[in-house]
Amino acid sequence: MKSITSSKIWLSSPHMGGTEEKYVQEAFDTNWVAPLGPNVNNFEKAIAEYIDDDVYVAALSSGTAAIHLALELLEVSKGDEVICQSFTFSASANPILYLGATPIFVDSEKDTWNMSPELLEEAIENRLKNGKKPKAIIAVHLYGMPYKVNELSEISNKYNIPIVEDSAEALGSSFRENKCGAFGDIGVYSFNGNKIITTSGGGALVTRNEELKKRAVFLATQARDDAPHYQHSYVGYNYRLSNVLAGIGRGQMEVLNDRVKARRANYDFYFKNLGGSNKIEFLQEPDGYYSNRWLTCVLTSSFEKREEIRLALLEQDIESRPLWKPMHLQPLFEGYPNFSNGTSENLFERGLCLPSGSNLRTEDLVRIIEIIRTKI
Ligand SMILES: *Cc1c(COP(=O)(O)O)cnc(C)c1O
Repeated sequence: MKSITSSKIWLSSPHMGGTEEKYVQEAFDTNWVAPLGPNVNNFEKAIAEYIDDDVYVAALSSGTAAIHLALELLEVSKGDEVICQSFTFSASANPILYLGATPIFVDSEKDTWNMSPELLEEAIENRLKNGKKPKAIIAVHLYGMPYKVNELSEISNKYNIPIVEDSAEALGSSFRENKCGAFGDIGVYSFNGNKIITTSGGGALVTRNEELKKRAVFLATQARDDAPHYQHSYVGYNYRLSNVLAGIGRGQMEVLNDRVKARRANYDFYFKNLGGSNKIEFLQEPDGYYSNRWLTCVLTSSFEKREEIRLALLEQDIESRPLWKPMHLQPLFEGYPNFSNGTSENLFERGLCLPSGSNLRTEDLVRIIEIIRTKI
């Protein structure tokens, strides 16, 4: 059988630390093969301790489930409007549709590639004039780069609209020494197979409000009322993380700092070797911003150039990927209101994500830059 780690170079592949199997074995040894148990509790504890003293974490089956529950906790329902960063992966926006609500898309600014504060305020004013106050703002730290935390928080406070902080790609990133995931009213992580750490599939919801965490767990476990029989007053979900997978998560948390270091070293390598060319641009960290560099992204000079590089890499069995296609350009979201300035459209046209796994070898990186150099 061909292993998925053979000669092919992946964009971002799982990277085990070594202790994961010990915790998984514990789950088997103690028969906690269930969506609850010591690994779930200890995984939550490890994440909370990593982020901040006063945060509460609920381990869930995916990042998408966490966004869905976050919107539910903020009482988003049918007919409501929810503002969402347009430049993101579709999982940020899909839960808006699960709830029968309407997404309002907002474009990015150039410093971090995330939600533009100016356009966000314009969108809110527009919706208020239309007679409807948006119920929530989904802001994303895309590719690990923190969004404009102070500016977006200020707008959220001014209009009293809560932020769902999509940190799916930003575990290990920070802004002014504070970890991404705990800036918004509710934060979200993903542990999907290609993220900075993985449980194969999984996610977490983060909040500073203990009641919200309790409510998230209640909803994630079928919303069962307190009674000896099965009684239900609310729609529930089956969204809790398996205790087996949480064992992988415990092991992964032990190496998170190493993973961030390795991904940042990938970025530094690419920047050192390609940054001198005026044909390639990099997203640099503004003052106070610290990115986990989940993926190293570059901007080429044109759509044609981007494709030329991507195909040249593919020919050598090296996976790269265009930047996310903005939601306001997706067939699924056609017709929803959007506030755009052309930024994300331009990024999508010219941008390419380079192989960024923490398990890349120096010889892999050398191979990659040699191929890119022949094309720029
Ligand atoms: C991966 C990702 C998600 C979804 O997380 P899953 O665990 O795959 O459901 C949400 N938002 C962004 C920005 C992501 O990259």
